[in-house]
Amino acid sequence: MHTPLVVLGGGPGGYAAAFLAADEGLDVTIVESEPRLGGTCLLRGCIPSKALLHVARVISEVDELRDDWGVSYDERPKIDVDVVRARKEKVIENLTSGLAGLAKRRKVTVIRARGSFVDSTTLQLEGDDPSIPEGGQLTFDHCILATGSVPAMPPAFDIGSEKVMDSTGALALEDIPESLLVVGGGYIGLEMASVYAGLGSKVSVVELSEGLLPGADRDLVRPLAKRVEKQLDGRVWLNTKVGSLAETDDGRVEVTFEGPGKFGHERFDRVLISIGRRPVSKGLGLENTQVVINQRGFVECDAQQRTADPHILAIGDVAGDPMLAHKATHEGRVAAEVVAGKPAAFDKAAIPAVVFTDPEIAWAGLTEGEAKRDGREVEVAVYPWAASGRAQALGRTEGLTKWLIDPETKRVVGCGIVGAGAGELIAEAVLAIEMGCEVADISESVHPHPTLSETLMNSGEVFFGTATEIY
Ligand code: FAD
Repeated sequence: MHTPLVVLGGGPGGYAAAFLAADEGLDVTIVESEPRLGGTCLLRGCIPSKALLHVARVISEVDELRDDWGVSYDERPKIDVDVVRARKEKVIENLTSGLAGLAKRRKVTVIRARGSFVDSTTLQLEGDDPSIPEGGQLTFDHCILATGSVPAMPPAFDIGSEKVMDSTGALALEDIPESLLVVGGGYIGLEMASVYAGLGSKVSVVELSEGLLPGADRDLVRPLAKRVEKQLDGRVWLNTKVGSLAETDDGRVEVTFEGPGKFGHERFDRVLISIGRRPVSKGLGLENTQVVINQRGFVECDAQQRTADPHILAIGDVAGDPMLAHKATHEGRVAAEVVAGKPAAFDKAAIPAVVFTDPEIAWAGLTEGEAKRDGREVEVAVYPWAASGRAQALGRTEGLTKWLIDPETKRVVGCGIVGAGAGELIAEAVLAIEMGCEVADISESVHPHPTLSETLMNSGEVFFGTATEIY
């Protein structure tokens, strides 16, 4: 069996590449080992986590009404975990069946199989899909590699206990454990900590480095860290290493800690390991091709997503950081256009990153941390949300919005926001940075009042010293 273009992996990178290539008139086959298209993002990542976070967020907002606004309820909310789980599954089902329809409409062939490379133009397919050709070999002119990533699980933590989960296990939401330890204070760990704490678990977070969300600017992390500390009653243990895990006779997990944040041992009903993700580049037979894999396991590729093998392109999580769905999708578009013979390259000034905690943190373009590391001079204009009428009305004054500005050109080169809805607000910054806007373009654009989006304009005004608070 031969196909001009095969896409290996049907996540947000793979299906976007396949659909666009089909729109370009190419004959496309997706090989995906899971029964449904959607990849990590739809099946066990972005979408289920946001569905569960929505429940936790509403509960927390209701709690706030009680604490701060004099609204009282007779009882704590009752949570039927089976209904919550079923609702989350329904969201996934809606989206994945939509994808199946989109593939069908474009006449994209989808083969349910695990693929591995025999050589630069042949995949060996394994699985029980009747559409797998006899002998299992699929030859191709081009392959877009989109195999994504999986949770990293160090051997020391892989104790073969169902009480020790990765993010996939946590999103399955089998039950609401009385106590949960989250190992890793990155974005996935913190989002899952919010979910389980919101649903009623006693959650603790342990992080090896000295702060939550290592890599993000500290001024953005601070309001979140404060809120998480409060929500978890101080059970956030920084600078602390997890030594060992062991299942105990009472069906719990005993964890040893070494660090100033916590020392000694404690038992938990469940433990979530969320210490990062690793690209799926091993076990694919890539050694039978000319593809080069770097030390971190990422497939090396250029701005056109081409690997060192002229027949193979790579996109998404397997092709490098940041491991984010929207980056995968845009790289998928570039790869499809390159295969279709169009001039295309992945050249983005601002790939947004959002942490969907409460408050949310979002940034795009250059961060202050990166500017410092690279010795790049920037001017920073910060607008605290305490001066925003809308933030006051919402009782969410802990946020801030900042622009990073090139001192010579006055162009905005980065933006960071922490606060309620930061993930939605950052889109304006992405556009401004990509379009090469000067800070005056933002400060002089009329923003609707009273909205949190005004803080983007106000932060621009701070740069010129003209910010006024119009409550
Ligand atoms: P994936 O989505 O991982 O898809 C790869 C596909 O390839 C999979 O379906 C896999 O089954 C298939 N595959 C692998 N090997 C083979 C093989 N040999 N043969 C056939 N098929 C194969 N990103 C965001 O942008 N926003 C978020 O809010 C967000 N939240 C997240 C929350 C969690 C809990 C997690 C785990 C991730 C989250 N992400 C988020 C990251 C996002 O899911 C990934 O960046 C994105 O899915 C990467 O897309 P991809 O197409 O590169 O790979």
